[in-house]
Amino acid sequence: MEFLKRAILEKGKVLPGNVLKVGSFLNNQLDVKLLSQMADAIYEYFYNKGITKIMTVEASGIAIAVLVAERFGVSAVFAKKSKTANVDGDIYAADCFSYTHKVMNRLILAKEYLNADDKVLVVDDFLANGQAVYALKDIVEQSGATLSGVAIAIEKGFQGAGDKLRGEGVDLFSLAIVDSMDDCQIKFR
Ligand code: 5GP
Repeated sequence: MEFLKRAILEKGKVLPGNVLKVGSFLNNQLDVKLLSQMADAIYEYFYNKGITKIMTVEASGIAIAVLVAERFGVSAVFAKKSKTANVDGDIYAADCFSYTHKVMNRLILAKEYLNADDKVLVVDDFLANGQAVYALKDIVEQSGATLSGVAIAIEKGFQGAGDKLRGEGVDLFSLAIVDSMDDCQIKFR
């Protein structure tokens, strides 16, 4: 996606710890036109897979997930982050270490919002070590639903989770894959 790569090069900042800051268009201020183009590209890739639900995790995945859900004409659900929630009969839960906040979170989703006959497209802003995507995949599996694909705005390819997911047969579509950020120089795959 050339338009996203351009935005990353023009507006992204490489922070210590291999964090790419894109607060001006994706994570804090939202460039709705750019997000809409991203949603269109994701729809174009997955449109014929019978998707019935878009799934993400709060907070930064929600904006793009909502736009993608609108394209598919389905609902978006988001897993909430909780440090304390005990698993009871009404929720699915999966643990996930936050790459940016360095804390362990429990992702929870009320069971009533995911059914065994759902075909789920997981959408998120970043893929780094894959903790968030694997936790969402875990929740999808707990529900008996089908994981039909994963769509990511920015995959940090050098962290390996993307290739691992592809190797496991997950249909992963990333709009931009950053292969290195050494010396603050962003290089794409
Ligand atoms: P993972 O779970 O794949 O290790 O990390 C993905 C999650 O961490 C994303 O949901 C995103 O919120 C956050 N994240 C990981 N790497 C980055 C990054 O370089 N920049 C930003 N802004 N968020 C990131």
